[in-house]
Amino acid sequence: MPLDKQLLEILVCPADHGPLREEGDRLVCGRCRRRYPVRDGIPVMLIEEAEQPAS
Ligand SMILES: [Zn+2]
Repeated sequence: MPLDKQLLEILVCPADHGPLREEGDRLVCGRCRRRYPVRDGIPVMLIEEAEQPAS
């Protein structure tokens, strides 16, 4: 299920307010590279739930 584009535009990374982009069923921050899961079409914008970048 594609995310609502308007919703995607207002969402930012909670860690650094970086821009997010869709990547499969994740939202990826363009700054810190954290990956936020999307569950049932609803982005889970919680730092604790994010996948940390490998580095
Ligand atoms: Zn970020």
